[in-house]
Amino acid sequence: MTKILVIEDEKLVRENIIDLLAAEDFDTIAAANGRIGLDLALSQTPDLILCDLMMPEVDGYGVLTRLREKPVTASIPFIFLTAKSARTDFRQGMDLGADDYLTKPFTRTELLNAIASRLTKQASLAKQVSTKFDVQTFSPKQQMIEMFLRRAIEREEFEQFLVYYQPIVDIHSGRIIGAESLLRWQHPELGMVTPTELIPLAESTGLILPISDWVLKNVCQQMKLWHNQGFTDLRIAVNISANQLKQPNFTEKILHLLLVNNLVPDCLVLELTENIIMPDINQAISTMNEIHSYGVKIAIDDFGAGYTSLIYLKQLPIHTLKIDRYFIQCIANDVQKAIITTALIQMAHNLNLHIVAEGVETEQELAFLRQHKCDAIQGFFFSHALPAAEFEKILVAKKRLNMSTV
Ligand SMILES: [Mg+2]
Repeated sequence: MTKILVIEDEKLVRENIIDLLAAEDFDTIAAANGRIGLDLALSQTPDLILCDLMMPEVDGYGVLTRLREKPVTASIPFIFLTAKSARTDFRQGMDLGADDYLTKPFTRTELLNAIASRLTKQASLAKQVSTKFDVQTFSPKQQMIEMFLRRAIEREEFEQFLVYYQPIVDIHSGRIIGAESLLRWQHPELGMVTPTELIPLAESTGLILPISDWVLKNVCQQMKLWHNQGFTDLRIAVNISANQLKQPNFTEKILHLLLVNNLVPDCLVLELTENIIMPDINQAISTMNEIHSYGVKIAIDDFGAGYTSLIYLKQLPIHTLKIDRYFIQCIANDVQKAIITTALIQMAHNLNLHIVAEGVETEQELAFLRQHKCDAIQGFFFSHALPAAEFEKILVAKKRLNMSTV
């Protein structure tokens, strides 16, 4: 837990800050003056110090100067809190080695942002210093994200989560045949948290389960709305996590969602990566068979990037292979990628699988895939992942892939 020392002589301000930090799951220590603050900093070595500038006895400058003299406390991130906003005071604090400066009154967001930014900076410095130790713990930024994520889920603030849709386009007709749904998290304080920050953290903490349930529900409802508008062939893919696949009632959950939304099972595609399937292949095959028996489609996502033995491809009840973007990038100029991708397309067709190329960004890549009879593509060349309303616009407008590329 991140420990923060608050040195502030005004009782009300001090208590407000402590309450706010405690509510965000920080470990807090309070000091009513500079002298106590110095003692606590030395004895407790907090991860960050918030310190008022104007205090009797030892003021903020005095505290910082003494902390910087001692090796144990010299590098603790230090943020000044002050009612002064004069340029000279700011300069003096920074010259002494303060890391940041908050002018009172500050908002909760300003305070949390300043803390997050300092902790992140400190973590990346620590990483540079100790690159020889491969520490697998969460960085302060990740801890911050985890904390907010836990809170959002406990409070069921699902309105912070958004589902984006990236179109999947038939390469021959140019028509949108479906979309991959992708989770986004727009946090009021953290801003847009990227999937690469969010997903691994949500997976490792188990928080992925409530989020995934929400995504599946949301996607099924949205898909039904689009089917009702006449886009009845539209198939939406949902990324499934390892934790979800292991749930004993996973199949029932899916079937329930299809039933309550009056959807035919084959409009739902579950995307599984090789890395999710392989660690417990027998269990995965059994669950996949069960789901598949009801007509739900299964796609292997990021194919080629993991370690699926090709032998299993025959055993897995799959409908689609999605070639990992790595193989597609610059495919027209990379002989090896071209050979592998061509072979993958042929293999997929021989196994009666639908094959989708991920991450198609250029006309050359599209031309290569069209020439080698890939079935469908997904990527920036046609469209980024879009909010539901934007995706609907291009559906209604019947946006198509440029067919002049041969
Ligand atoms: Mg995917």
